[in-house]
This record gives sequence, C-alpha cells and structure tokens, in this order.
Amino acid sequence: MNKSKLDAFLNYIKSLKFTVFVVTLIVIIVPILAIGTIFLNVSTSKYYNNRLEEYKSNNVMLKNNIISSGYFDKKQSDAVNAQINLLSNEFDARIQIIDTANIIREDTKSSDIGHTSISKDVFKALKGKDVMEENSDLDYIEFSTPLIATVSTADGGSAKKTVGVLCTNYSTANISEYRNEVKRVVYIAFALGIIFALVVAGVCSKFFARPIRRVGEIIKDVKHRRGVEDLDEVKDCTEVKQILSDFNTMIDNFYAEQKKRDDFVSNVSHELKTPITSMKVLADSLVGQEGAPEELYQEFLEDISTEIERESQIINDLLDLVNTENIENEISISQVNINDVLESVLKTVKPIAEEKNIEVVYESFRPIIADVDELKFARVVTNLVENAIKYNKVDGTVTVSLNADHQYFFVKVQDTGIGISEEDQARVFERFFRVDKARARETGGSGLGLAITKEIVKKHHGSIGVHSKEDEGTTFTVRIPLKYIEE
Ligand code: ADP
Repeated sequence: MNKSKLDAFLNYIKSLKFTVFVVTLIVIIVPILAIGTIFLNVSTSKYYNNRLEEYKSNNVMLKNNIISSGYFDKKQSDAVNAQINLLSNEFDARIQIIDTANIIREDTKSSDIGHTSISKDVFKALKGKDVMEENSDLDYIEFSTPLIATVSTADGGSAKKTVGVLCTNYSTANISEYRNEVKRVVYIAFALGIIFALVVAGVCSKFFARPIRRVGEIIKDVKHRRGVEDLDEVKDCTEVKQILSDFNTMIDNFYAEQKKRDDFVSNVSHELKTPITSMKVLADSLVGQEGAPEELYQEFLEDISTEIERESQIINDLLDLVNTENIENEISISQVNINDVLESVLKTVKPIAEEKNIEVVYESFRPIIADVDELKFARVVTNLVENAIKYNKVDGTVTVSLNADHQYFFVKVQDTGIGISEEDQARVFERFFRVDKARARETGGSGLGLAITKEIVKKHHGSIGVHSKEDEGTTFTVRIPLKYIEE
C-alpha cells in the first residue's frame, strides 16, 4: 500500500462515519450474540432436564413394578414385560434386569440373557447405590438402579434387601438432535442479525456524518464577508445551525479584528506623517528664503528638532505598545516594594510639575510589597502622573495614593485638571485617542500612553478605571493583585 493510500485509509478509520458505523455494529451485534447464546443454552438444558426427569420417572415406575410383581420369584411378569417393551420402543432404550449373582435375567437386546454382567455400575447398584452415567460421545445415558424388596427373615420379621439391578440405557441422540436444531435456528438468526446490523450501521453512519459534511460544504461556498447569509434558509439540524452561527460570529470577529488592524495602521501612518509634514514645511520655507537671517535658521531648526523628538516618541510608544501586547512577551515578575516605585516616579516628574506650579501629594497608607514587573509598573505610574500634570491647571494639585486589601493593591492618581467628558472617558484607553487633538500638539502626547498603561495592567491581571468631571478633575484607579498567578 503506497503512502497516500495508507493515509486515506487511516483518515477513513479516524472518520466520524467509520466510528458511527463500528459503534452501531457493536451495539446491535453484541446483544444479538448474547441473547442467541443464552437462548441456545437455556432451551437445550431445559430439554435435557425434561428428558432426564422422564427417564428417571420411567425407571421408578419400572422398578416399582418389578418389585411389586415379585419378578425374581416368579421369573416372569406380563405387566413388567409389557412395560419393558413399551419403554424400549418409545424411548429407544435398552433395558436389562440383573440378579444378585450378576446374571442378566432380562435384556431387550436378548443376546445377553444368561450372561454375567461385568459392569462396574451394576456392582455399585448391587451395593444399594443409584448410578447414572452419561456418555455424550456415544450418545447414551445409563441408569443402574438397585431393586430393593422387603423380604421375610428367619425370625419371622422383615428386612429390606437388594434383590437385583435394573439397568436402563437411553439413547440421547434426540437431545443432540434437538441441540443441533436449535443451533441451526440461532445461527440463521445470527446471520440475519449481522446483515441487519450492517445495513443499520451503514445508514446510521451516513445519516450522522451528513450534517458535518453539510457544514463543510456550506462553509466552502461562503464567498462574502458576512458568513452564511441566511441561517433560516438552512434546513439542517439545530447543531448544524449552531455551528454555522458560531462560524458567522468568527467571521465577524475576524473582520472586526482586521478592521481594527487597518485602522491602527492608518492611524500610525497618519501620526508618523504629521511631524514629517511639519519638518518639510519648515525646511522648505528656509530653502525658499534666500539669505534668511541666522536667528530664523536657529528658530526653524529648533522646531524641526522638536518634531524629530515627537516622531521618535511616537515610534518608541508604538514599539512599547506592540511589545506589551505581544502575548509571547512575558512580563518579568518579582517582589517589588511599591512605595519605593511610587516615590521614585514622583521624584522624576517633580520638575515638570514645578513648571506649572502644581503640588504633588503622596499618600501611602501602608508599606506594600507585590508581584509586579518593576519597569513596566513604573511606566504605568509615570503615564498616569504625567497626564495628571499635563492636563492639569496652573497651581493645581496631583494626589497619588496607595492602599491595599488582603488581595489587591490600589494606586489612585487624582488631579484637579480639565477633566474628561463622560463620552470621551470610554475612549481614553483607545490607541491614538486624544480628547483635544490640537492641544495635543502642544502637550506633545502620542495618544498611546493610556493604551500602553491598560495593556500593562492587564498583563498583571489587574484593572484600570477612570472617573472624571469636566473642569473639576480626573481620577485614574489601578487595581493589581498582590500575588501574581501564572495563567
Ligand atoms: P497622550 O499621550 O495624548 O497623553 P494618553 O493615551 O496618555 O495620550 O491619553 C489619551 C488622552 O486622554 C489624552 O490625549 C487626553 O486627552 C486624555 N487624558 C488622559 N489623562 C488625562 C487627565 N488626567 N485629565 C484629562 N484628560 C486626560
């Protein structure tokens, strides 16, 4: 068998169609075999037992007759002879009567009359024991029954005494015939059962595999972006409809994801183009002004340098965001003193706060050690505090507080700044979202800070929320588990 044929065969063996076929076959055939075997055994053993009972009762009747007729005294009894003939004809039996001297006195196959019996069973029967011997090879069953009569004793009393043995040999050919007959019927039933099972298994395997094949066919036919257009038109079972509906959801998610990616790429291009356009305008105007004064050059070059800085900040933020979002980039967790991180961040941002005369207040309710990626966590706090300063008013306040319960620690960054409208609060974590695009040029934000912040918090299995009122101020609250548990 070449490889492709072998693969096709293995695929068939692993297919649902084949599995259903085999399971159905087993489910039907096993009970048929079990019932057939039980029927065969029960019916033949019942037949055998009935026969045995019949033979035994014949023996008892004959034995009683022999004894009551005083057979051994009179030598002959018509009643006994008649019964012996009847049994021998009706049951295909050989009957012998043997006296205590082991002499065969009666034999339905008269050849042995007058001979001495040398049967072991007769010896045993003469000692008063009932013996039954079955020979299934030669198809017979033989009973050696002691004939026990009441005889008068010398002292005028009576005693029981074995006066002879009744030997009845019944042919069991009829039992074997019966067994063979039942076997024949059972085997025919088996054969019919197997044919029936094959047909049912074939039908079932086709029937059960069909929905899955249909799903494959329908999905293969889907050419448009909406998935399977009209699910009500699909006249298959509920499961097929469910799979197709899940398929539609998957398509929707796929295109939504694609759209998000396209939007992201177009936003990135737009954001990267803006500083370049400004630089081009500045450079062109310098080129166009022959003999422009040195101060103008100085001023324009400073502007160009600012734009370059802006461009490089956008690129750095983009790289940070992509790195944080990449599921393969694990964060490097260690036990970190959160109070120390907060204090160090606040020290770094102090000069920017002083420019706008903003007071930065730090409230720590307890020392907290937690499992975080120190650099990334510091980035979260820096982003939030820088925003709280950037979007604050002159002489405003920024309050950073740290607290914890038994499971999480909380960092709250509260400012007295311009606030965010309810509508925009839901969008501040989107990439490149800025409430005021024009103002953003002054503040120099890339619009990626909160997107990065949210991603980092998510990687720590935490959450971030915003609460704000326009013209009054904004509060960002970060909640992170004290213990990091790997997923
Ligand atoms: P940016 O680099 O523009 O600051 P962010 O992602 O950090 O980008 O913030 C997104 C937008 O959310 C900002 O442009 C600003 O409009 C708004 N924002 C963020 N923090 C605050 C705040 N503390 N107060 C008011 N507005 C804020």
